[in-house]
Amino acid sequence: MNKYDVIVLGSGPAGLTAAIYTSRAELKTLILAGNEPGGQLTTTTDVENFPGFPEGIMGPELMTKMIEQGKRFGGELKNQSADSIEVINDKEFKVKSGDEVFEAKSIIIATGATAQWLGLDSEQKMRGKGVSACATCDGAFFKDKKVIVVGGGDAAMEEANYLTKFASEVIVLVRKKKEDLKASKIMQERAMNNPKVTFVFSSELGAVLGENVVNGVKIINNETKEESEIEVHGVFVAIGHKPNTEFLQGVVVLEKEYIAVTDNTKTSQAGIFAAGDVADYRYRQAVTAAGLGCMAALDVEKYLAE
Ligand code: NDP
Repeated sequence: MNKYDVIVLGSGPAGLTAAIYTSRAELKTLILAGNEPGGQLTTTTDVENFPGFPEGIMGPELMTKMIEQGKRFGGELKNQSADSIEVINDKEFKVKSGDEVFEAKSIIIATGATAQWLGLDSEQKMRGKGVSACATCDGAFFKDKKVIVVGGGDAAMEEANYLTKFASEVIVLVRKKKEDLKASKIMQERAMNNPKVTFVFSSELGAVLGENVVNGVKIINNETKEESEIEVHGVFVAIGHKPNTEFLQGVVVLEKEYIAVTDNTKTSQAGIFAAGDVADYRYRQAVTAAGLGCMAALDVEKYLAE
């Protein structure tokens, strides 16, 4: 049986930052990197808002560097996922991964969240070429351009407002009728009162148009089935995120599928800490995830010393 001081689940900015800190603190660290090592940033292009890279850096390159740094101080990294966690007591845990079982005195869960996509072929083909699921990450690429946001929740309203800092015009495409809009009243009003934002209700995205860059979208009216085309240069899909917490049922308390945390990184189970998007629907940034990873590592260090 392999025994560790801490097992970090996930290898996005939260998990890798946690591993840098725990291994530098000479805690025997295992990173179960998951099936997509590097996390969500490996599927993006330019990252311009991560400090230290004034010219920007490509997402996959940033994550390759973080993975190297995560291993530099002795952190062991395996490209496999955790299937389940067994709590023996507050300082003894078993993590199952396939046929293997790893033992640890503490765990940091940093398994992230997955942006939901519509599932259209054209949407997937144009990801990184004008289709994005993160306005804070990619909004600045659309200065004086017309963009469309798909979704009717708080995130769609927030993204639409945020995008008006750059875009000349923002259209919000909602599949439901106006009276059934899901977003909270205050968020709806903010978007509706923004002169750069217009809404198209009862309509869905049929296709993203363009070859190497987005130059429009086809939309379909749900009620009349009428199809039309709108010229836009950016498509922001804001239809929710799914935190990767399925394997945690009964281990820690979840809230709307996210890990519930108190005191920044503590979960309901002593000895298990959480960091990054898996416990944070609000900020969802690489730099905040990294910060939370650092905090979880320091909390683990203190916990094990107690
Ligand atoms: P939500 O689940 O709240 O909303 C998702 C939206 O996307 C809904 O309008 C839904 O439509 C729509 N949608 C889902 N699937 C499709 C599809 N296939 N095609 C078209 N539309 C689709 O997710 P959010 O990310 O908006 O918010 C998640 C949580 O985070 C919420 O609790 C929210 O309140 C919170 N949040 C809070 C913020 C704040 O307070 N500042 C900012 C951002 C998020 P339908 O209504 O038809 O189901």
